[in-house]
Amino acid sequence: MKLTCKMATSCPLCETKEETCLHLFKNCSVAKAVWFSSSWGFFIESLNANNSFDLIKNIVSPPAHGLHEQVTKEQFVLMAAKIMDHIWRLRNQVMFKNKINKFSSNSFQNFAEI
Ligand SMILES: [Zn+2]
Repeated sequence: MKLTCKMATSCPLCETKEETCLHLFKNCSVAKAVWFSSSWGFFIESLNANNSFDLIKNIVSPPAHGLHEQVTKEQFVLMAAKIMDHIWRLRNQVMFKNKINKFSSNSFQNFAEI
């Protein structure tokens, strides 16, 4: 099965790369900051994914080395879903509400308790 997700613009969050699903949720500097803002400071780069399908596959079935000692697989999947939803909402705020690409600490603090 191959998932495709094509978007024709540059990333609205960092404005430095083409916007793809993989970039938006994993490789974007803003996305990395959001992932790292969880209470256990997750490095999204630690998930080996070269396409969006691999990213989702590794989120649903994370490798054991990618999980923090006190985080269960279920907690990880829930947190990942919330973070990806947050990234998508940030993207849409910039895209559709013309909010300047200027993120406050509020952009990240939602995950400090996860
Ligand atoms: Zn970006």
